[in-house]
Amino acid sequence: MNIILLGPPGAGKGTQAAMLVDERNMVQLSTGDMLRAARTSGTEMGKMVAGVMDRGELVTDEIVIGLIREQLETADASGGFIFDGFPRTLAQADALGELLQSVGQSLDTVVEMRVDDTALVARITGRYTCGNCGEGYHDEAKKPKVEGTCDKCGGTEFKRRADDNEDSLKTRLMAYYKDTSPLIGYYYANKKLQSIDGLASIDAVKSSISAALENA
Ligand code: AMP
Repeated sequence: MNIILLGPPGAGKGTQAAMLVDERNMVQLSTGDMLRAARTSGTEMGKMVAGVMDRGELVTDEIVIGLIREQLETADASGGFIFDGFPRTLAQADALGELLQSVGQSLDTVVEMRVDDTALVARITGRYTCGNCGEGYHDEAKKPKVEGTCDKCGGTEFKRRADDNEDSLKTRLMAYYKDTSPLIGYYYANKKLQSIDGLASIDAVKSSISAALENA
């Protein structure tokens, strides 16, 4: 089963995708993670996109479509793909349809995670991850059980994303409304869209996503 998790920054796409990976053996394809990895390893592309990402603007369609193409051609597709943070423009959505077709796959459903802007600011400015295993935490909503120690791997180094600040967030939200939200209409017209309440608890959102997958 191939699905898209669609929603603004901070909607919880990454959190839910990680659980689907653990429980359903699906492969998470997050263009944001791929771009951050390119920056960390210092590739030319990574250097090129750094400023754009820190400002909260969108990287070119060409770059992100190239990243997804590479993954679709090489990753093990047996458990299905979760597209997280991709597509973000209509051109990317068209390209995804074509790429899936070219590898003999198709899109099963698009789960729109609805959240409001005020909740997003609090969610994003409080979030951080374990520097070792990537487990996500939040200053208020999800603290490690033992302060300063990752619940999952015992790591003690934590990091915050450079673009998780109020200025970049405003740009990221505007990019979402201007370039990405038209995808809601696009997938509705393609009869692929299911919308859920992304403001509910992590477990409740997880159940809604499971129901959406059953329904696909
Ligand atoms: P994310 O981790 O999904 O919030 O993405 C972080 C940043 O990476 C975004 O603010 C963009 O600068 C860039 N990015 C990630 N995915 C895409 C995409 N599909 N199209 C354009 N830019 C992207």
